[in-house]
Amino acid sequence: MDNNTEKTHTGDAGNGSSTDPSSPESAFFDVFFTNASEAIFITDPKGRLITANSSFTTMTGITLPGALGKIPAILKPEGPDDDFYHTLLRTLKRKGNWRGEILNTRGNGEICREWLSISSYKNKHDETTHYVGTLMDAATQMSQSLSKHYYDSLTKLPNRLLLQDRLEFMINHARRNNELMALLLLDIDRFRLINDTFGYEIGDKLLQTIAERLQTCVRDVDVVFRSGDDEFAIILEEIAHMEDAAKVAKRILTSCAGPLPVNGHDIHTSVCIGISIFPTDGDGKVQMLQNAEAAMLRARETGLNNYQHYKPSMNARALERLTLENDLRSALSRYELCTFFQPQVEIKTSKITGMEALLRWKHPELGMIPPAQFIPIAEDTGLILSIGEWVLRSSCLQARKWQMMGVPLVISVNLSANQFQQQNLVSIVESALKNSGMPPDLLELEITESMSMKNPEDTMKMLTALKDLGVRIAIDDFGTGYSSLSYLKRFPIDTLKIDRSFLMDIPENPRDAEIVKAIIAMAHSLKLAVIAEGVETELQAQYLVENGCAKMQGYLFSPPVPENEFERLLKKQVPA
Ligand code: C2E
Ligand code: MG
Ligand code: MG
Repeated sequence: MDNNTEKTHTGDAGNGSSTDPSSPESAFFDVFFTNASEAIFITDPKGRLITANSSFTTMTGITLPGALGKIPAILKPEGPDDDFYHTLLRTLKRKGNWRGEILNTRGNGEICREWLSISSYKNKHDETTHYVGTLMDAATQMSQSLSKHYYDSLTKLPNRLLLQDRLEFMINHARRNNELMALLLLDIDRFRLINDTFGYEIGDKLLQTIAERLQTCVRDVDVVFRSGDDEFAIILEEIAHMEDAAKVAKRILTSCAGPLPVNGHDIHTSVCIGISIFPTDGDGKVQMLQNAEAAMLRARETGLNNYQHYKPSMNARALERLTLENDLRSALSRYELCTFFQPQVEIKTSKITGMEALLRWKHPELGMIPPAQFIPIAEDTGLILSIGEWVLRSSCLQARKWQMMGVPLVISVNLSANQFQQQNLVSIVESALKNSGMPPDLLELEITESMSMKNPEDTMKMLTALKDLGVRIAIDDFGTGYSSLSYLKRFPIDTLKIDRSFLMDIPENPRDAEIVKAIIAMAHSLKLAVIAEGVETELQAQYLVENGCAKMQGYLFSPPVPENEFERLLKKQVPA
């Protein structure tokens, strides 16, 4: 090894204070360099080979001294358009090092994936004097040091980390060879439900079964990954046509649909699949993953058991949702959420007897976003728990304020299904009452009819516990949820809210008119208060009065309004 190289390895090449070639460090280095299982090579700033060890010869087929002074093949671009090498050079210039996977043709003609790592060494004038490279067999390296991080222990499939890695590698490969490749992302329909119903053991077994089936649906060269809890990914390399990906997707749908035998249970499941194709749907791994995910979400929305190819319009929607999701996370702390109040009116006296608190989001750029648009996102992300608690606490404070001003009104607060299943809901309500000092009978909690009937026995327990605090309970959107009358009788409830959909066409629509009449009669016989929501016309109000519904809420009286406007409404009816 010449003097030059030794200096290079000490990292202070060219600064005149190099390691003494006869020092113990130098001797150690010689042994390490010669016997290393990694290929090590050193070049000048132009990439011309200065020296290399014997592993380099084994792994590249390049022999010394013939190759000295020439640029080794692994460092040569494959043409002026070779993006890969241009990126490599740029990174090397900017950061001083580059590390990644390359395809290397070995001395014996075998094509292998190798980890290439290159660092530049500079002198004190900041000029690059050498490049030092190491080349390592990628497969060996992975299995040696990374298997723990890269493989999922349940399914034994490579995980998301390795997916990222492999995807990048395959994209580079496809780009250089002008080939198509596809990324499939799969999600198990209703996996969480299966887990909740049958338990984790069955859930795990199902994942293993699906992992096995997926592997039978692809070629040997294609790799299946477990990329998330109930998510798998497949890279299809070198496909001839875009339709080939669809063929595989169909095969998977058939193979995974229908009852899967798992520990003696027949689990009915299916998957949905999103597909992105390189290069049409993305030119890097981030985009390919994002777009396959957007397609997968679309497949899930379309229904169970289907696949979708990525389309640019999907991304717009996914992006919109993602943006909303991100913004919603900070909406509370940025004071962007507020509640509006819609009066509930007793028709005989024309007096406001209560109000419903309705959540609003004032988005800094998008303006007012209606609850129907962001509450589902809040529910999916779990944010509804903190948002719902905030609505509850601030509504109690608000009602207490009006009570202290001499207008004791019942305030109705909507609970979402997630909140209703929350174990500590009772203590949250209790604390909201205590902190505000509001009498419990001025708080009415609304749960929808469908929520109440999903799990009636649990509903019963929760309602009883809430009722023990002294609050009122209303069943919202009544008429839409197929109530069981026997439960309805037993639930400790105070109010039925007739859903707006039944009022829209009365009195013209005789069927709806009859339903409304029946609901009112039933409420009376169960000794429940009844209120009609969404009353917009005098005719509707008249019909309701004639049939014994005394309370109403709707645009006929007032839309939901902010606090100060609500106070103006109150002042109009209660002269100061
Ligand atoms: P909901 O609880 O059934 O509330 C009644 C909805 O009907 C409100 O819509 C209200 O503005 C609207 N409405 C009232 N009168 C009329 C009318 O005469 N005509 C028409 N066309 N609409 C009328 P909003 O405020 O958009 O809320 C929609 C839904 O979002 C609510 O339905 C409720 O399910 C949910 N929501 C609102 N605030 C909250 C909240 O704080 N927590 C939870 N979990 N859900 C909320
Ligand atoms: Mg409501
Ligand atoms: Mg309603």
